[in-house]
Amino acid sequence: MNKYLKDKRLLIVSNRVPYSVSKIDGKIIYKKTVGGLVTALDPLLQRIGGLWIGWSGVSGTNRETGDRVVIEEGNGLKKYELKFVRLNENEIKDYYGGFSNRTIWPLFHGFLFQSFFDHNYWKAYHRINKKFANEIISVIAKNDIVWVHDYHLMLVPEILRHNNTNLKIIFFLHIPFPNYEILSALPWNKEIIKGLLGCDIIGFQTKKDAVNFLAACKEILKLKPDFNQFKVSYENRAIYAREFPISIDFENFRKLGEKKEKSKFIKNIKAFSRDTRFILSVERLDYTKGLKERFRAIERFFDKYPDYRNKVVFIQIAVPTRTKIQEYERFKKEIDEMVGRINGKFAEGLWAPINYIYKSFSQEKLVSYYKLSDICLVTPLKDGMNLIAKEYIAVRSETDSVLILSKFAGVAQELKEYAIMVNPYDIEGVADSIKDALEMDIREKRDKLIKMREIVKERDVFYWLDTIIHSFIELVCKNK
Ligand code: UDP
Repeated sequence: MNKYLKDKRLLIVSNRVPYSVSKIDGKIIYKKTVGGLVTALDPLLQRIGGLWIGWSGVSGTNRETGDRVVIEEGNGLKKYELKFVRLNENEIKDYYGGFSNRTIWPLFHGFLFQSFFDHNYWKAYHRINKKFANEIISVIAKNDIVWVHDYHLMLVPEILRHNNTNLKIIFFLHIPFPNYEILSALPWNKEIIKGLLGCDIIGFQTKKDAVNFLAACKEILKLKPDFNQFKVSYENRAIYAREFPISIDFENFRKLGEKKEKSKFIKNIKAFSRDTRFILSVERLDYTKGLKERFRAIERFFDKYPDYRNKVVFIQIAVPTRTKIQEYERFKKEIDEMVGRINGKFAEGLWAPINYIYKSFSQEKLVSYYKLSDICLVTPLKDGMNLIAKEYIAVRSETDSVLILSKFAGVAQELKEYAIMVNPYDIEGVADSIKDALEMDIREKRDKLIKMREIVKERDVFYWLDTIIHSFIELVCKNK
C-alpha cells in the first residue's frame, strides 16, 4: 500500500478537521476532537502524512491561526497539514445543524418521523458542499487521491467529478445507509445518490448498507446495479460499493489498558465500593444511542431482580453533543429526568443504581472506566459501527468481561457470535441479558472475550485502511 501511495498525496475531506486549534500566548494549541472518524483517521495521517480539509469548528475566519496549519512533528506526530473551510453562523445552522443533523442523520438512522425536510436546509447543504468542493479544487494536484468522508458531504464527489473526470475519489459513509423506502421520503434523494455516484468507490460500514445503496440506485434512479459484484454503472463509469467496517488502533488501546492496570483511580473506587460490579455505557448524548430504552431496562432489572440492588452500579458516560439543536436539548432534559427518577426510586444509603456523567473524557481516562467495568452495555437503536464496543474489548485483558450488544449496531456484524445480543427495544430482554451477563460462567466469558479480541485485533484501523486502499487500487486504479 505504501508503495502505491509513495508518489501520491492523500487528501482527506470531512466536515470537521480532527483538531480544534487555538492560539494561547502566541503558541498554537491543538486539541483532538472526540468521535469515531477522528479516532480512526488521525493515526493514519500521522503515519503517512497528507492534507486534511474541513471546518475548524469555529464560525467565521480563523484569525488566530490562519486558514492553513501544519500539525507539527514532535509528540510522536508526523507532519500533516490542516486546511480550514470557513463557515459563518448561518451556514453552520442550516447546513450542519439543519440538513446534516436534522434531516440526514435521523433519516439515515431510520428515524423518519424525526427528520425535517426543509428547502432552506437543502439549499444550504448544496451550497456548502459546493464550497468544500471548490476548496478541494483550489489545492488539487496531479496524482492526488481525494477521500471524502461522511453524510455532511455527499454531494462533493459529483461536483469534483464534473470538474475533473479523471480524478480518483473515494467516499466513506460512517453512518448507516437506509433502505430505499425510507430514502424515498427525502425530496432530494436523487440528488444525494447522484452526488455519491461521482466517486469511484464508496465504503460502507456493513454489507447491508452497501446493498441498501445499490437497491436505492435501482429503485430510485432506475439504474441496473450488479448485486453480485457490488457495482453500478453510471455515466459510463463503474462505481463500486463495498463494506469496510471501521475499527480502532487495537495496540494503542491494549497498551493503554496495561498502563491502567495499577491505576489509583480504579483502586480507590474498588476499595470504596468493595464487591460492587460495574456496568458501563459510553456515547454521545444522541437519541439514536438508545439511552431511554436502556434506562427503562435498568429500571426493569432492579424491579425484577431486587437482590442486585446495592451490588451493581451502571455508569453512564454521556458526552455533550449538538447541544444547539432542539431535539438534543429536549432529549437531554428527558434523560436528566429519567435518571433522577430511577435513582430516586432505588437509591439507598450511599448507593444509587445509575452513576450518570455528562461530560467528555480523554481516551486515556475512558480506558480507566473500561478497566473498571465487568460489563459493557452497548445498546444503540441504530449505529453505523460503534467503536466503544471495540475499545472495551481491546482494553480488557481481564477474563471476566462481557459485552452486551444491540443487533442494530454495525459492530454486531463482526461480534454477534460472542457478545450477548439484544434487541434494544425489548426492555424485558435487555433486563434479562444484564442478569445473564452478571451470572455468566467464567470459562464462557473467557472464551468469548478471547474470540472477540482476536477479531478486533486482526481487523484494526490499519487493516481497515489497507483493505480500502487495496480495493481502490485493484478495482479503480488498475481499470482506469
Ligand atoms: N470518546 C472519547 N471520550 C469520551 C467518549 C467517547 O474520546 O468521553 C471517543 C471513544 O473513544 C470513541 C468515540 O469517541 O472512539 C465514539 O465513537 P463511536 O463510534 O462509538 O460513536 P460516534 O460518536 O462516532 O457516533
